[in-house]
Amino acid sequence: MENAGGKGFSLARRLYVSRILGVALGLVCVVAAMYPLDPPPWVWGFMLFNGLLWPHLAYQWSRRAGKPYHAEYRNLLIDTFLGGFWIAAMHFNPLPTATTLSMMAMNNVAIGGLRFLLAGLAVQVLGVGVGLLIFAPAFIPATSAMQLYACLPLLCLYPLALGWICFRQAHSLGRRKRELLALSRTDSLTGLLNHGTWKDQLEIEFQRCKRQQEGGAIALIDIDHFKSINDTYGHVAGDIVLRQLSKMLKQNLRATDVAGRYGGDEFCVILPDLPLNRAAAVMDALRDRFATLGYEQDPALQVSLSIGLAAFNPAHTDATLWLNDADQALYQAKTTGRNRVICCSDQPPSQPVLDSV
Ligand code: GH3
Ligand code: MG
Repeated sequence: MENAGGKGFSLARRLYVSRILGVALGLVCVVAAMYPLDPPPWVWGFMLFNGLLWPHLAYQWSRRAGKPYHAEYRNLLIDTFLGGFWIAAMHFNPLPTATTLSMMAMNNVAIGGLRFLLAGLAVQVLGVGVGLLIFAPAFIPATSAMQLYACLPLLCLYPLALGWICFRQAHSLGRRKRELLALSRTDSLTGLLNHGTWKDQLEIEFQRCKRQQEGGAIALIDIDHFKSINDTYGHVAGDIVLRQLSKMLKQNLRATDVAGRYGGDEFCVILPDLPLNRAAAVMDALRDRFATLGYEQDPALQVSLSIGLAAFNPAHTDATLWLNDADQALYQAKTTGRNRVICCSDQPPSQPVLDSV
């Protein structure tokens, strides 16, 4: 996640481009309004400074600030103050005034919401006040055709640029939100679903089975004597074994099967629409393959799996009872010698492949 400095820098970078465009187009608008008033040379100089140099100065100022985020807010308030100043200098010429006010209001509300819009308005009133002190108060009621055309680039292009920036921002926020959601659902070591998300899926599957009066099976898989693998080969090797098992689950299950890491060295799988005997065959093949893989990694490394299987039981009132069945079967697998698949079901599978509790 970005820190305050990083956030400030990226805001400063984004505003750098939009400020260059905004004040350059604003310069065209103000020059057209000021030209008939024949202002003194310092006003021309200040106009050019504001329209051409200020964005670069503001950017460097923010970049060098301890808190670039705050510095950029200050720069935005300076933009707004200068907007007010030029409104008074233009003697409130209607179209340039309305253009300046609306562009700055759009900018401020997009960046800081209602609070910043109101703060900007207050600062703008201050800018108008200073402008009135320097220039004689006056009102020009009509905008000339030349002044109207000079305002059009700002009116057309700046909203487009700001809209584009907001879209890009919303798009990248959406992407980050999706990434964070995926991370919050995933076990970081294995990339499988984490405990909570898998249990949510189990609940969904349980409700589906209840509605359709048919169901699949669930499996709880536990690595045998995993503690001694850690103790003998180290935790890094232990992690490799965990990743290998998860990789094998991803590669050998159907797309509709849902695998997760229940916790520690225990994994869990939902096998929708699969009769218990076929689920047992799938799990036994997995057990077999995993034992062979262990030998390939290191001839001395003994790895085996104990697996408890349970079919959906329409008599169960909630999904935890289904999980309990699988847990009992796993317990049986552990207590009857490990390295085996045990099925738990009220009605044994029609063609029992392996042991049943
Ligand atoms: P059993 O055959 O009865 O299942 O014995 P076991 O040693 O596998 O069971 P136990 O529950 O005692 O040990 C599980 C071990 O898994 C203990 C814990 O240190 C280890 N473990 C849990 N999470 C991780 C992990 O993310 N990485 C590694 N390397 N080890 C882990
Ligand atoms: Mg274990």
